[in-house]
Amino acid sequence: VKESDDSLKREILQPISMPIEGVAGFTSAWSSQFPEIDMEKCNGCLLCWIFCPEALITREDRSIDLRYCKGCGVCARECPVHAIEMKREGAE
Ligand code: SF4
Ligand code: SF4
Repeated sequence: VKESDDSLKREILQPISMPIEGVAGFTSAWSSQFPEIDMEKCNGCLLCWIFCPEALITREDRSIDLRYCKGCGVCARECPVHAIEMKREGAE
């Protein structure tokens, strides 16, 4: 029973849409800044996962599929402990 509960939970917790490559290619081609998560600060609240409009952040480990990131900074804005920093493309 527990296994089916887990799989039901997984199904319910899927984003409504998933990122795909558009006609202009990957979004990261025109994005000028990208998020970087400091896992030392991250408390696992998952607000970034909930708010990312592109559903790019992985719930399990907070990895971000930067190929589709548009650099909107919503994840960084919503992070309650300021664990996400937006980095300019090409910056150290
Ligand atoms: S910058 Fe925007 S698109 Fe990129 S991961 Fe954060 S919320 Fe998602
Ligand atoms: S919003 Fe911030 S603290 Fe919460 S999971 Fe994301 S990076 Fe971690």
